[in-house]
Amino acid sequence: MYSIKEIYYTIQGEGVHTGQAAIFLRFSGCNLWSGLEKDREGAICKFCDTNFWGTDGTNGGKYTAEELVKKCFSLWPSDSNSRPFIVCTGGEPLLQMDSDLIKALKVKNFFIAIETNGTLSPPHGIDWICVSPKASTEIKITTGDELKLVYPQKENSPDQFINMDFQFFSLQPLDDHQHEENIKKTIEYVMEHPKWNLSLQTHKYLGID
Ligand code: SF4
Repeated sequence: MYSIKEIYYTIQGEGVHTGQAAIFLRFSGCNLWSGLEKDREGAICKFCDTNFWGTDGTNGGKYTAEELVKKCFSLWPSDSNSRPFIVCTGGEPLLQMDSDLIKALKVKNFFIAIETNGTLSPPHGIDWICVSPKASTEIKITTGDELKLVYPQKENSPDQFINMDFQFFSLQPLDDHQHEENIKKTIEYVMEHPKWNLSLQTHKYLGID
């Protein structure tokens, strides 16, 4: 069974697929933080802004692979001529994603994208791998489609990643109490290093999930 925090239909708000309609499948659990505020200080990843704990969100629960794909597919518009697009996220989706789930998603012709912290190896068959590296971790996925880095981070500089084998490099302002300042710094960095693209979390500006 897969533990799912929530599943919903929305618009991808950040990165290369910004603006694209997508099913968001949020897995419960992460290997870099428990998800509980009391553990944040001691967590490996400290700036998480996502609630991935438990299974109590919209359409959350425990699912078999077939049940999960059925639920996800039911949220895709039935009169659409487009290929269903799913973003598997978390938490850390690779704690739970396996070949059974990939196979079941392929039966429904899903384009499968994942957003991962890159510390775990993926199963075969994923169509779009977006790695978002976190400080003090060992990146296992050094090749993929998009590398999306939150900026600035004391321990992670963009230079460390720019020679990795990714098609796109996205730089996203850290959303903390210095957000405005971080946006300015990110714009400056991208303009000086044009291999990076500015990624804004447009869903936050638009007030959508
Ligand atoms: S790796 Fe991602 S999901 Fe896990 S704690 Fe960090 S930001 Fe949150």
